[in-house]
Amino acid sequence: DSGCNHNELENMSSVIPGWFSEISPMWPGEAHSLKVEKILFQGKSEYQNVIVFQSSTYGKVLVLDGVIQLTERDECAYQEMITHLPLCSIPNPKKVLVIGGGDGGVLREVSRHASVEQIDICEIDKMVIDVSKQFFPRVAVGYEDSRVTLHIGDGVAFLKAVPQGTYDAVIVDSSDPIGPAQELFKKPFFESVAKALRPGGVMCTQAESIWLHMHIIEDIVSNCRQIFKGSVNYAWTTVPTYPSGVIGFMLCSTEGPTVDFKHPVNPIDADESHCKSNGPLKFYNSEMHTAAFCLPSFAKKVIDSK
Ligand code: SAM
Repeated sequence: DSGCNHNELENMSSVIPGWFSEISPMWPGEAHSLKVEKILFQGKSEYQNVIVFQSSTYGKVLVLDGVIQLTERDECAYQEMITHLPLCSIPNPKKVLVIGGGDGGVLREVSRHASVEQIDICEIDKMVIDVSKQFFPRVAVGYEDSRVTLHIGDGVAFLKAVPQGTYDAVIVDSSDPIGPAQELFKKPFFESVAKALRPGGVMCTQAESIWLHMHIIEDIVSNCRQIFKGSVNYAWTTVPTYPSGVIGFMLCSTEGPTVDFKHPVNPIDADESHCKSNGPLKFYNSEMHTAAFCLPSFAKKVIDSK
């Protein structure tokens, strides 16, 4: 007995006034909520609705089409893992491409790697970049690195035009597969990524939640196993403000020098020179790296069978 009688339940408002509730068909029947102190920005770009609000416990929050993209408090977990899982798995990454990631957080993390010479980013929505520079300076700081070249456009088209074998790493920091990011989860896109990578190059892509999206993950894994002839591994981490509190990453390498994703060969925590401009890492370390590939049995069974 919950202590609530039937009438009390019926009177409960589905949206609590003064709170942001993340309601989406991608996670039916549940909605994580954050208390709103103040709405700082509301706009509509060519691609999506953009909101920034001050929350009472997670700092400022960026929301695209009703879905939380980042909060100041927990963005470190996502940005550090999606970046250092691939870049610490190969020696001396030099050319890196980021697809999506308009907030600049992945750029900030890539720029910690001294070996990197070129960082290209292709984000579809200029409004996300502008809003991040205005409201999230500690995230958008990534744009200040002189190695960064910004391209505003669709990541799918951008990748098709990339000459074969250009990049050591491609990081796909996309939103969910409803809206502009839909194509970033499909087979033709993964084929372009594989072509754009040098032999033994690596891809890391945002790959949803094992609690909510096993069906999407199954498709991503089976597509990637067909396309990437090197290693194919699923990793995950915790991000409290993402649906179900976890987010996964698909890590793949092309045929060539073997990449053992589970054992980083380029540990960033060994050298602290990267902390000068960006501050210390808050979340990633080599133990977290290896642990990220341990899967709960229910997910392991499905992922290994694909
Ligand atoms: N970095 C964020 C975090 O900390 O959680 C994750 C989300 S990031 C804001 C996702 C970005 O992908 C959005 O800015 C969105 O505009 C962009 N995007 C979606 N579809 C895209 C596409 N087809 N090409 C390029 N960028 C795209």
